[in-house]
Amino acid sequence: MSQPVSDSAQVHVERIAALYTGIAAALSEAGFNGSQLNEIFSSHIRGECVQCGIRITGDDMAHVALAEVKTEMPDSRLDRLRQGYCVRNGCDSYYYRIHFDDYPDLDWTKIRETAGHLAVATQATPEKETSATTIRDWLLIRLAVGLGVVLILLLFWHIRYYGYVPVLQKPHKYTVDPASASPRPAR
Ligand SMILES: [Zn+2]
Repeated sequence: MSQPVSDSAQVHVERIAALYTGIAAALSEAGFNGSQLNEIFSSHIRGECVQCGIRITGDDMAHVALAEVKTEMPDSRLDRLRQGYCVRNGCDSYYYRIHFDDYPDLDWTKIRETAGHLAVATQATPEKETSATTIRDWLLIRLAVGLGVVLILLLFWHIRYYGYVPVLQKPHKYTVDPASASPRPAR
């Protein structure tokens, strides 16, 4: 009865890692911190195979997304998932339904839009040969660009308010000769 409202999307198994990466980037962009991200992925995101109904957790998705290609997976289920198969040995489904449960101040529609329409929206065109790695690289670049923009904005803000470039220049607050200062009234 009090089942939490849940948003869901059908995702190709190969895009689960990209979906994870995108959602994590979008959540941190939206201001969620590391422990909130952990909580959201641990208990507010889950997936199930559309064919056999087997479940995966958000943590399973994280494992697959964050493991290097050569990294040994903790179990063979995750290995199958990483290779683009359902975790159930013998199931030939390529799609999982991912559920996004309610979380305070989290607008899943917005987050999924930010995550880049890709992982979710491109599920209708599985023949399009965009590998999960390409999408993940693209997302990482996008995240890096986003962080770069934020840093540049902070830098401009700093120069504007403090009149010097942090790190490169020392503040010149002690370099003013008091005699040369005009007796302007303080604001
Ligand atoms: Zn399955």
